[in-house]
Amino acid sequence: MHYFALCQGDLLLTDNHAIPHDLSDVITLQPWHKQIEFTSASGTECIAVKLESPVCKDGYKMMGLRETFDVLDAEDYALAGKARELLYWNDNTQYCGVCGSPMKFHTEISKRCTNCGKEVWPSLATAIIVAITRGEEILLVQSKNFRGDYMGLVAGFVETGETLEEAVKRETLEETGITIRNIRYAGSQAWPYPSGLMIGYTAEYESGDLHIQRSELNKGGWYNLRNLPAIPGKVSLARQLIDQVRNSTIGELPQ
Ligand SMILES: [Zn+2]
Repeated sequence: MHYFALCQGDLLLTDNHAIPHDLSDVITLQPWHKQIEFTSASGTECIAVKLESPVCKDGYKMMGLRETFDVLDAEDYALAGKARELLYWNDNTQYCGVCGSPMKFHTEISKRCTNCGKEVWPSLATAIIVAITRGEEILLVQSKNFRGDYMGLVAGFVETGETLEEAVKRETLEETGITIRNIRYAGSQAWPYPSGLMIGYTAEYESGDLHIQRSELNKGGWYNLRNLPAIPGKVSLARQLIDQVRNSTIGELPQ
């Protein structure tokens, strides 16, 4: 059994950066730890555990979930994110949104209202992110939500009634005032902060002058792919898209 024990977004690891297989020498699990069992795609039995306070014990450490990307293998990082999403969903669906009665687990990934029968499943906030190029340049922006002084990509939540491609065009126009073409799917990523799905695209500049949306962005501009400023860490889909267009664009040009 793999225990993904989280306290306010921090994950419990052993000192050598492993997921604990046993918690009996750390805590005595109780109903308020809100354990949720789940199975990984490869068949690993997992339990998400909500800790009320950080574990302070020799042989263990707490680490921010994003930072665990650098020390865990890809599968464990993904499972830790799933555990966090399940705990967040569980916390936010204690009562029925229709009639206010308590919700109870119905299957491993669904709950049913004890009164009216309303069923709920974990929901995802769907967001798009796009790497826009113009020749050897890429459009980078700095969102006011960024947690550091680096430049990222145009991104935003998909609205109701919208296709993903429409969301890419709309967000680009809203945030930067330009139009784009050749919008192509380039990859996706679970983003458990707290329950997102990021869907990545590449696109090419079509027309318009840059007008940075000051309500959401600090700054933005075209940057040469050979000389980029500080960009997001490898944990993010933004970085993967930037690396992808940098490799394909610079690779095609004479060195
Ligand atoms: Zn109900």
